[in-house]
Amino acid sequence: MQPTVSIVGRPNVGKSTLFNRLIGERKAIVHDEYGVTRDRHYGESFWNGRNFTVIDTGGYLPDDPDVITSGVREQVHIAIDESDLILFVVDTESGVNSLDKAVAEILRKQDKPVLCVVNKADNEEKVHQAYEFYELGFDTIYPVSSISGSGTGDLLDRVVELLPDDTEEEEEHKYPRIAFVGRPNVGKSSLMNALLKSDRCIVTDVPGTTRDSINSLLEYKGNTYTLVDTAGLRKKAKVKENIEFYSTVRTDKSIREADVVVLLLDAMQGFDEQDKRILREAEKFNKGILIALNKWDSVPEKDTNLLKEFQEYIHGKVATMNYVPIISISALTGQRIERVLDVADQVLEQRKKKISTPALNSFVEKILKDRPLPVKRGKKLKIQYAVQVKSNPPVFKFFMNNPEELPPNYRRFIENKIREEFSFEGVPITMVFRQK
Ligand code: GDP
Ligand code: GDP
Repeated sequence: MQPTVSIVGRPNVGKSTLFNRLIGERKAIVHDEYGVTRDRHYGESFWNGRNFTVIDTGGYLPDDPDVITSGVREQVHIAIDESDLILFVVDTESGVNSLDKAVAEILRKQDKPVLCVVNKADNEEKVHQAYEFYELGFDTIYPVSSISGSGTGDLLDRVVELLPDDTEEEEEHKYPRIAFVGRPNVGKSSLMNALLKSDRCIVTDVPGTTRDSINSLLEYKGNTYTLVDTAGLRKKAKVKENIEFYSTVRTDKSIREADVVVLLLDAMQGFDEQDKRILREAEKFNKGILIALNKWDSVPEKDTNLLKEFQEYIHGKVATMNYVPIISISALTGQRIERVLDVADQVLEQRKKKISTPALNSFVEKILKDRPLPVKRGKKLKIQYAVQVKSNPPVFKFFMNNPEELPPNYRRFIENKIREEFSFEGVPITMVFRQK
């Protein structure tokens, strides 16, 4: 599980600029290889051989000036709970401020490592001014200019030194990890309990390494899985935006920890923006994905086509994700709950699948014949060769002339064809196009 670094501080000190700086290079890579979702608040960073997740807590702050102070304080607490290291950002231009002092006090009273980043230190003179922030009581301060990037290398060196060691092979890490996520009241805990009671499942609690997280091991049909803990909110946030922030951080953390994400929906409530966001997030991190429509027992007048209509409705909402399987269940009656595990296991298998290079290339040849690539600037686009460079999750690399000229719809066409031919049901596919 990747460590998490949170950025906290008052509005306008430059948190989101620093965030973009920290994930900059990585984002470019992700974007190139993947090309879809980008999220303003979460990003992955890579430095000196370590990967870590960066959260810009400021992205969730309310606009209302009256609640800024309590909003910032709450977010600092969230950052303390949810991350391994905190970057506390202050602003040389505005100098030490009373809210900075209040935040510093909260941060000094807890155990997580904190680095005090003095931003907007754009030149020598401002770097000097930055020293006034020693007043906040931290051993070291890190003057940086998020805009130009100066100072951020030293900062990142220190960040990486302070990150916890890569998780060792704990028992629960040996097994595929399943996370049940979804809006409140869709039936996540009911499903867990129902599985627990099922004769065919054996569930054991395993206290996790992270504070307060309890993961369970589940045995089913001779296989063992880790159920990722998605415990509810421990603290009740008062600021509305932060309540959402809490559950978003929690959900996203579970997604990042999982190999397969089961999105639970309440069949009577349908599908909304939050559900879409969860799917996008799972896709962004290349997790296996399936949707379980829960509370099927409460759906009146079920005829044989109803599930199909639900499936079409949901696939219509996220058209690019129609590779995600959708099943109907009832945690209350126990109807088809084991099917969730069966399908999750199929998705895990699909995610591990590796297509041989000859099979892939005869497939590429065939689709190129069926639908030739266009001519761009007088030159015919050609894919010379393709290889699945990696599985679990799968990554395909296509070597071609002028990859930047490849029309986006052709890219989608290839993905659809790959799925027609090789399935990869429930599995996001990464496709990279490179010049030979
Ligand atoms: P946030 O509210 O803390 O996320 O702050 P933003 O990242 O939105 O930045 C607030 C303002 O400060 C913007 O106008 C940025 O362009 C500016 N800013 C951010 N970093 C720097 C910096 O390193 N130097 C200077 N001069 N301005 C900066
Ligand atoms: P969570 O917040 O996602 O963990 O949801 P809960 O498991 O606490 O369930 C929320 C409510 O939905 C509870 O009142 C459950 O009894 C009810 N519920 C859960 N699953 C089902 C189901 O399959 N059918 C029906 N009718 N109610 C359900």
